[in-house]
Amino acid sequence: MRPTPGPTVPLWFQVPTDQKVAFITIDDGGLARPPAVIDFIREAHIPVTMFLNSPAAAAHTDYFRQIEAAGGVVENHTITHTSLRGRSYAYQKHEICGAADKLEQLFGKRPTLFRPPFGERDTNTLKAARDCGMIAALHWRETVDKGKVRYQTPTKVVKPGEILLMHFRPALMDDLLAALRAIHRSGLTPALLEDYIR
Ligand SMILES: [Zn+2]
Repeated sequence: MRPTPGPTVPLWFQVPTDQKVAFITIDDGGLARPPAVIDFIREAHIPVTMFLNSPAAAAHTDYFRQIEAAGGVVENHTITHTSLRGRSYAYQKHEICGAADKLEQLFGKRPTLFRPPFGERDTNTLKAARDCGMIAALHWRETVDKGKVRYQTPTKVVKPGEILLMHFRPALMDDLLAALRAIHRSGLTPALLEDYIR
């Protein structure tokens, strides 16, 4: 899927695809970084996209580099994790470009995907993301916390192209396992977001 060029990046809750895939995303990075997650992702070949706040990435670079080496990809989740909705364009651009610059410096690759903190955004967010070199903003469908998947619809099925959101929290291993179970039960396999949006 190639996002169309324009003054703003598109905002997607799921990736437009018919393929039987779903996407695991892990956000933030400052709160907890369970070491077991690194080996699990490496050994089970779990594709994950990490939307990191740049200070957390800077403080714990080695941890995230190890997940990157296991196949994970680092993407942009602002500097300070402030809700951007309603803030000035200049403020938003600083948060998004500043994080992209820092993440590029730390990991040697500039992020291309952006997730607004709390999912809260406005037109300036999508414009600033574009001006900072991002190609898409990503929301989510399912959230996973404390080993439990929360669906937004009563059918409790993960559908093709849907994005699951979890966080770097103490129970991340449980969350990953719950997400994988939900994806497989739905007849899908986990795939890497960056293989579908370029
Ligand atoms: Zn967040």
